[in-house]
Amino acid sequence: NVADGQNNDRKQGKLDANISHEESDAALKKYEKGLDVWVQDDTLVWVQATVVGTMKDGRIIVRVGPGQDSVVWVKGDYPQLCGENNFVDTEDLTRLNPLTEPAVLHCIHERYKQGEYYTTAGITLVAVNPFSTVPSLYSQAKIQLYSSALPQDIKDLPPHVFAVAQQAFGNLSRGLGSQAIIVSGESGAGKTWTARCLMRYLATTSAGKRLPGQRTPTSIVKIEKRILDSNPILEAFGNAGTVRNHNSSRFGKFIQLQFNRSCHLVGASIQTYLLEKTRVVHQAQRERNYHIFYQLYHGISDEERELLGLGGGEEEEEEEYQFEWLPTDDSQNDSDEDWSSFAITRQAMTSLGIGKCQQQEIFMLLSAILHLGNIVFNSEAHDDGCPCTIEEDSQRCQRSLRTVCSLLGVDEDALGRCLTYRRITAAPGRRKSVFMKPCKPAECLARRDCLAKLLYARLFDWIVDIINKNICGEQVEWKSFIGLLDVYGFESFPDNSLEQLCINYANEKLQQHFVHHFLRAQQEEYEEEMIPWNYCQFVDNRDCLELIEGKISVFALVNEECRLNRPSDSLQLADRIHSTLGASRHISRRKSIQGQAAFTVHHYADRVSYQLDGFVEKNKDAVPEELMELISQSGNKFVSSLVGGMAVTEDPSTKKGRTARTVVSKFKASLDKLMQTLESTSPHYIRCIKPNIQSRPGVFDRKHVESQLQACGVLETVNISRLSYPCRLAYPAFLERYGIIMRTAADQATSSRSSVSSLSSLSDENLDTENMDPQEILLRRNLAAGGTPGTPGKRRRRRTAR
Ligand code: ADP
Ligand code: MG
Repeated sequence: NVADGQNNDRKQGKLDANISHEESDAALKKYEKGLDVWVQDDTLVWVQATVVGTMKDGRIIVRVGPGQDSVVWVKGDYPQLCGENNFVDTEDLTRLNPLTEPAVLHCIHERYKQGEYYTTAGITLVAVNPFSTVPSLYSQAKIQLYSSALPQDIKDLPPHVFAVAQQAFGNLSRGLGSQAIIVSGESGAGKTWTARCLMRYLATTSAGKRLPGQRTPTSIVKIEKRILDSNPILEAFGNAGTVRNHNSSRFGKFIQLQFNRSCHLVGASIQTYLLEKTRVVHQAQRERNYHIFYQLYHGISDEERELLGLGGGEEEEEEEYQFEWLPTDDSQNDSDEDWSSFAITRQAMTSLGIGKCQQQEIFMLLSAILHLGNIVFNSEAHDDGCPCTIEEDSQRCQRSLRTVCSLLGVDEDALGRCLTYRRITAAPGRRKSVFMKPCKPAECLARRDCLAKLLYARLFDWIVDIINKNICGEQVEWKSFIGLLDVYGFESFPDNSLEQLCINYANEKLQQHFVHHFLRAQQEEYEEEMIPWNYCQFVDNRDCLELIEGKISVFALVNEECRLNRPSDSLQLADRIHSTLGASRHISRRKSIQGQAAFTVHHYADRVSYQLDGFVEKNKDAVPEELMELISQSGNKFVSSLVGGMAVTEDPSTKKGRTARTVVSKFKASLDKLMQTLESTSPHYIRCIKPNIQSRPGVFDRKHVESQLQACGVLETVNISRLSYPCRLAYPAFLERYGIIMRTAADQATSSRSSVSSLSSLSDENLDTENMDPQEILLRRNLAAGGTPGTPGKRRRRRTAR
């Protein structure tokens, strides 16, 4: 910590509390004068400094920045050594020497300044979003460069998404089984862009894998086109402008690209996760609804506009065709762009077998949803003790009501009744009695929103279904697949709810998968090099996962609350969570500022507090039966088919059919399935980094980047690596660097390998310390210390051959 003298006393306390005098003496010893270190800084996160001296009380005096006079006291956490810091091989973070968090940040920043956006980190690729088009980065020549490289040479090419794709494709074509590329990062970091890049690369490369003169079967050309065409459709229906990203995906996606024996792309299948339904009926300030609504509104012809009830007739009042659920934001709204994107969406729909008539039906449904948002209720009636009704005095509302009913094929009275009355089934004794109870204005609005969300979510599922039917290769045709996973990254906002818990749970699962795979890969490498290696500190997030999804867990308690079906009280639920799970080291109590009920989970990436208000309702995600019935009885076949057959909310797996499936249990099931699929593949990881929150080119906010390196597990990887042998140097490079410390030239043996061997057996006394600068002596000592990693571990993992 860089702090001024006044702030030091408190930190001094921390130092004393944690470290005994002997320990502190020993630790201080290595901070010799002139040594370069990294010290923490509020804005730059880490800055380089030079040690000026140490004090008896454990303080270290450093000078920050070359040529600066300012001397500051460093206390508390000891500063990290800069080491050689000359980045012999900057393309791969694991080659940094020493491998420390500051060095990682520095290296990525330096590369960014040079226009290098990709950096390797062992088995991971770190991709920084340039926020500007760099055409040469994705040119045909680049594709050629990577796709023609021999497997053993790919590692020597500059780090790139294409290198990852080629490695996956290479493994697949060498018969090494299915592959997965896991793309993660926060919103706007470039996941979807990267996934699109990977898809294009794999489609192009597999097409190029034909013998010269051999013609590609038309069926394959068609399927490749369809697979790529699925992107604009999914983005139109599942992406929206948010404050973080003007094209933010509001769902998770796993796409499996299927290849046949000759490694031709012959099909694909798409699985989506957790579409953000609420966006349809509620858009936060400066955020937008799903792109498709704008595309439709700005893109259709006047003729269609009238047909869909979106205005256009000359006598119409413009105000009547303004939609509550279509907010515009000057910085994002671009009707020309919507217009051209709509043409692309339509073309893609046609290519995927969604014909003109069906497109018309989809657009009618979308228009109906927009009109639903303009239906309002008469709260005065309620105040006078009368049942709430749909507002009769507003022309816009009345027109919308008529339009909704005609587009959805339902009766006006029936819709009105469904929205304003709630069916209550009471069963005193054996005879059930059913009666209708008028709803309060807020309940009417909630029912209206519920209907809109239901329709949109079902439409989205229907579209994904159709896409799958049209891009899926015949089961017999494909042999293995490359899976691309593009899911929300770790989220931590001022207010977090069930959605964030699900997202962070998924990230926690993926992190566990990554750590296991990473350890396995390290072990295999060590065995290959015949290096004795024992893992003493196994870093695992199993406990945290258990806390969220286990038998007795947050999920279990929230599900229990849904099952009991009593009025939910979030404070009581908070108490139950704390009394049942409070013993776990991954949970702590936190009351939010407004005194809401909350709990805090200590995730691998950060601590996140979740507000419990609305948790249970969100988890139930209940749709009133009356609404389901209304839609299933619609005169419009397309509309009724959306709920037909899907109306049952019961869990088919529990044959009793009683327990309604909650959001978290459905999500857990789909995630378990995903993890099973990933387990059957060789994984590759791409961590996308957003260099600044303004989405601007050329701006690198070190603090923001550091927190992402933390959240996506890159720093965790660095720390795990540090538990073993973090520095890797080739023999000649090692000799070039350290040969100077050998006392006599005679020590220089015949081969570089044996020289290194005799060099590393030198003891401290043999060091030619007089002629060495203090940094070198330290590095030499560190090197010797690094050679004995920990005590023998019990958890040595068995080598698992793939
Ligand atoms: P995410 O899916 O992680 O939320 P996106 O992939 O949608 O983020 O990227 C956000 C925006 O950043 C894109 O719309 C694009 O403008 C820009 N972008 C991302 N990756 C790149 C890249 N490699 N080159 C240029 N621009 C990019
Ligand atoms: Mg995205």
